[in-house]
Amino acid sequence: MAVIWTVEDEETISILLVKIIKSMGHESVHCVDADELNRQMKTSLPDLMLLDLMLRGKDGYQILVDWKKDPRTRNIPVIILSARSTERDKVKGLDLGAEDYVTKPFSVSELKARINTALRRIVPASQKLEAGALVLEPDERQAFVDGEAVSLTTQEFQLLHYLARHPGQLVTRAQLLTDVWGYQSETDTSRTVDYHIRSLRKKLGDEASNPRFIETVHGSGYRLLTGE
Ligand code: CA
Repeated sequence: MAVIWTVEDEETISILLVKIIKSMGHESVHCVDADELNRQMKTSLPDLMLLDLMLRGKDGYQILVDWKKDPRTRNIPVIILSARSTERDKVKGLDLGAEDYVTKPFSVSELKARINTALRRIVPASQKLEAGALVLEPDERQAFVDGEAVSLTTQEFQLLHYLARHPGQLVTRAQLLTDVWGYQSETDTSRTVDYHIRSLRKKLGDEASNPRFIETVHGSGYRLLTGE
């Protein structure tokens, strides 16, 4: 079961969305605008959000921009649901980081399929992860290289787990500081990240100059190589 939020100001569509989400066995929370969404975000977060574009107050694009800026929500997928059906609108939505774009009126079965696809892409925190010769078992908090267990500190494991959940993607130092260390501001503590990356590499038998697992993206951050 997933928690799916909807931001939609038309009552008939809101009722339909909630009905669809519940019929799929998921939990739904409905918000009519950005203000209600912000209040809701103070106490919880969803697994997926369905977002209308034309809303009272802040519009859906602006909500999406804020959502992608906030380290707590940036990895939570958003499906835009809108009557705006031009190519330009769709490209704009996807460029701003939406996972998908569904035009209204939509068919119930199509929306269900899109929701299922978005949910399948979410990696549960407990799922075993593999990147080439590197394997992570989050339940046991254990990492393996070439089948051999590697002893990591909690912090090192969390750092590696975060990188492994974003395989092949650039992960910035600021992102690591907020998402792994929980720092609120992006103060200059990037040396903390570099220090832990260094000790992690040592334990994995990895080299910065010729990386097998963790690649340095100069001036930006790090990337976990997928071994492909
Ligand atoms: Ca609307």
